[in-house]
Formats: sequence, structure tokens, C-alpha cells
Amino acid sequence: MSTNLLEVKQLKVAYGGIHAVKGIDMHIKQGELVALIGANGAGKTTTLKTLAGMIKPTEGSIVYDGANMAQIPVYNYVERGLALVPEGRGIFSRLTVEENLLMGGYRSNDKVQIMADIERVYGLFPRLKERHKQLAGTLSGGEQQMVAIGRAMVSRPKLLLLDEPSMGLAPIIVQKIFEIIRMIASEGVTMLLVEQNAKLALQTCQRGYVMESGKITVADSAEALLSNERVQQAYLGE
Ligand code: ATP
Repeated sequence: MSTNLLEVKQLKVAYGGIHAVKGIDMHIKQGELVALIGANGAGKTTTLKTLAGMIKPTEGSIVYDGANMAQIPVYNYVERGLALVPEGRGIFSRLTVEENLLMGGYRSNDKVQIMADIERVYGLFPRLKERHKQLAGTLSGGEQQMVAIGRAMVSRPKLLLLDEPSMGLAPIIVQKIFEIIRMIASEGVTMLLVEQNAKLALQTCQRGYVMESGKITVADSAEALLSNERVQQAYLGE
């Protein structure tokens, strides 16, 4: 049995008086690809941001790679291999593709290694190599998503947190992005994937969590979730 890379216990997160995450338990094993699905406002983005250190939990614990993350300064999170690809991508539109990718390596002083990592990203996304000098803001939505994922890959993540990678993209581009997600997973990167496109997420991941009003209401294998009647009705449009 492989060990847990991430173990979340009774995690609670609030924005002032708004309780967005109400005591969730979650674990991810090394090498797993796990989906987090749920309606708008269920607390998925808040969960990812909290795991990435952007929001402090009000209660509960996050153990990642053997460390209690409450004791780790946020500026060390990326160094420890935690990378978030945020909702809306968060790329720098006035920087070139390559400059955006370089930002992924900002924690490292090893320029040779960073360039090798960028070449690896170009291997995954040949389109970005073709456009490496282009301003990121002038790219298509799908290409911008590639930049956002590519930038995270340059930080050499052990756990990649992906927030709605398919948002706003045409179906054919979504397929391409999910192909890349599978390729990255096959390289051994562990992933937690938040997706509105629950069907595709569950077809891609091994396990999934369903989040409703700040709580995890179902946790199961992707296969079981795909055939769960309640999940089908609420999230799979069936
Ligand atoms: P979506 O798919 O729409 O992003 P989500 O499942 O990711 O939804 P969150 O964005 O985590 O949900 O939001 C959870 C709850 O927290 C919602 O009620 C939302 O209104 C609230 N919320 C989110 N961000 C903030 C904030 N910065 N300040 C106050 N409340 C917030």
C-alpha cells in the first residue's frame, strides 16, 4: 500500500462569518489522481486555496508529505512541491509565454535546471514552444491554460492542485487539456482536480470526493461515483 501524500482532517475554513468548508476529511495517496466535484459555491476553490497555503484554516489539520503544514511558512509550500493552477489561470498577460514559465521556477537559482524544466513543458505543449515569445494575454483560452499548467510544472510539483482547468474552453480543447493531465499523471505527479465537468473528471481520476455546502458528502472510487444514481442526477446530467 502506498502512503498518503496528503491527509486532511476535520478542515474548516471561514471567510469572516461565512463557513465555506465545514470540517472535511480527505486523503490522497502518492501517485493518485483524485477529483473534487460539486456545485458552484460548495467550497472546492476554498479547499484548494487552503491546501496551497493561500488561506489559513480555522480548524483541522493538513499533513502533506509528512509535514504538518500549519508549521510550514507559506513561502516554502512551492519548494515542497505543492503547486496550484488557479481558477481563471492567473497568468501574467503582459509577459511572454516563456517569461510566464520562468516564473514557475522563481524558487530555484539553478537556471540550467529551470531551462530543462521549461523544455520538458514544451515537450508536453509543443504549441507553447511555437509561441514562446508571444505575450500570454494574446493567446487563446486553451493556450493560456497550457501556460498555467506549464508554469506549475516548472516548479516540479509532487502534488498539483488544478482548479477548473476546463473552464470556458471549447470541448476539443478540453479533451486536449485532459490528455495533458493524464500525461502528467503518468509521470508520477499526484493531482487533486476540481472540475465542473464532473463526468470527464471522474473518467480521468481514480477516486473522487463530492462536496456539498462545505462538506464532503460522498467519497468513492471514480467508477462507483459514475454509477451512483444521486451523483448522476446532480452532477453528470443523467
Ligand atoms: P465555484 O465553482 O463557484 O468556484 P466553489 O465550490 O469553488 O465554487 P468556493 O469558491 O470555495 O466554492 O466558495 C465557497 C463559499 O465561500 C461560497 O459561499 C462563497 O460565496 C464563499 N466565498 C468564497 N470566496 C469568498 C471570499 N473571498 N469572501 C467571502 N466569501 C467567500
